Amino acid sequence: MQNNTSKTVLAGLTYSEIEDFITGVGEPEFRARQLHQWLYQKPAVEFDKMTNLSKDFRKKLNDIAVITETKIIQKLTGKDGTIKYLIEYPDKNQVETVLMSYEKRPNLTACISTQIGCIMGCAFCATARQKFIRNLTAREIIEQLLIIQMDTGLLITNVVFMGQGEPLLNYDETIKATQIMNKDFEIGMRRITISTCGIVPNIYKLTELNRQLILAISLHAPDHELRKQIMPVENKYPIDEVIEALRFFTKKTGRRITVEYILIKDFNDSLEHAHKLNNLLKGLKYNINIIPFNPVAGCDFERPSREKVNKFREVLEQAFKKVTVRLEKGSDISAACGQLAGKIHDNTETFLYK
Ligand code: SAH
Repeated sequence: MQNNTSKTVLAGLTYSEIEDFITGVGEPEFRARQLHQWLYQKPAVEFDKMTNLSKDFRKKLNDIAVITETKIIQKLTGKDGTIKYLIEYPDKNQVETVLMSYEKRPNLTACISTQIGCIMGCAFCATARQKFIRNLTAREIIEQLLIIQMDTGLLITNVVFMGQGEPLLNYDETIKATQIMNKDFEIGMRRITISTCGIVPNIYKLTELNRQLILAISLHAPDHELRKQIMPVENKYPIDEVIEALRFFTKKTGRRITVEYILIKDFNDSLEHAHKLNNLLKGLKYNINIIPFNPVAGCDFERPSREKVNKFREVLEQAFKKVTVRLEKGSDISAACGQLAGKIHDNTETFLYK
């Protein structure tokens, strides 16, 4: 792809596209493998650091290509090592992307965004307070990984599509991005999680695709009436249809899904809610992730006490499921779930499913 200065942008190119580029500029084919590695698996920040390329070729690359034109505008590091980046695309739109590491695990997990803003309008989420601007392209999605790798010099091992936006409303580019992650970054499909608020037709589409991905569902309530109060998507795709689609997914792919459930004080956190949730999910292959609500500006919800969270968890465990309480990574820098917003503070857009 050409840009304003007519240099070729290399970020997001697949192996065969890099081959085309290399042969197109009259270089031998083996350079494609070298360049591909420097881009995705080393990672190099500039052509001059690509030491196994000849000096002449490096000079040529500087003249005709750039790795990426997307920039880091702000970088915040939390006490627990979580890093939140605000990045800016060439059209000046910005998104946030987060890198999480865990003391006892070697995993480096990137939490990435798929849209600039979001139209879903979930009552508990900071992104919902933004105007929806546009979908990101596959290149823009994977540039978030590239930028993290280039900035830290580390290689990402896991990806969660849990940043800004609804991945299943940007289906094609999201899927294309997962392919680049898998083939070019060499991140295992099993280490990629797509989280959705329940875009039913695209859950079926994803099922047919039959990839080894993890599907996570933002459920957050055990019934229609309650869910409707916090998630407008419930008006379009009611919880029963969502569960039916999930049953189809687990049956067809044999893969366990992840259920996400935000615990909001005095709203969906009673033991009755927990029992109802167990019933709703009966017969489904799932793990469940409880997320104590993370504070969001302009939102009156609160998180329940630790004791209440534990009681809720105990009931879920009675269904013999793997229940985890999601670690609150990066909340001191507003990088935790639901806190990503970036720099668009306009809330004039009407939501899609009101
Ligand atoms: N649109 C997708 C992915 C983005 S949200 C989805 O809905 O799944 C990623 C996760 O963070 C979702 O489970 C979302 O519901 C949760 N989340 C949003 N706001 C939150 C908040 N304030 N506290 C805790 N979790 C939140």
